[in-house]
Amino acid sequence: MITVGDKTFTVFIERQAIEAQIARLAQQICKEYEDKEPLFIGIMNGSFMFASDLMKQMPILCEVSFVKVASYHNMASTGKVQELVGLQEDIKGRHVILLEDIVDTGITMSKLLDQLQTKEPASVEIATLLFKPKALQKPISPRYIGFEIENKFVIGFGLDYNGLGRNLTDIYVLKEETH
Ligand code: IMP
Repeated sequence: MITVGDKTFTVFIERQAIEAQIARLAQQICKEYEDKEPLFIGIMNGSFMFASDLMKQMPILCEVSFVKVASYHNMASTGKVQELVGLQEDIKGRHVILLEDIVDTGITMSKLLDQLQTKEPASVEIATLLFKPKALQKPISPRYIGFEIENKFVIGFGLDYNGLGRNLTDIYVLKEETH
């Protein structure tokens, strides 16, 4: 159990399980992108740990870059999405794989995909460590998914609660409050 700010969280997915899933995703991506020299675009801040672990297992020729978009201020998606910032690469004709910590409502991803499509990439796929299918509000279908989870608030392995908890190497879930 761990306390972050005013909330208590319990271990939900242990590091070993996360590592095993990332290894599986890496193998799948390697196979499918071997000759494509893909460009991985990590979405900051949440994807840093996932991106780092995934890239360490990616022996194929590839580029890695990071962009920043909307932030998630509290425990419910605000729906307010900022513009994509920090994309230096010309993605025209490139095979792009977006790296995300979690797809929740899909609003962030949907906005990001719209913006990227205008730059005419050859293809765009999503690799996300976590996916909450029951929270989805947009037609987003990540090709590479670490774990499908219930519609619960989680932290750790890049994910935060009010800025805290990103450095935890296990994933924790918000403890149900009992009254
Ligand atoms: P979406 O636009 O609702 O899909 O939200 C995407 C962003 O919200 C993610 O990149 C996370 O930063 C944040 N987010 C969504 N669910 C959670 C959660 O359970 N814990 C922490 N952050 C979350």
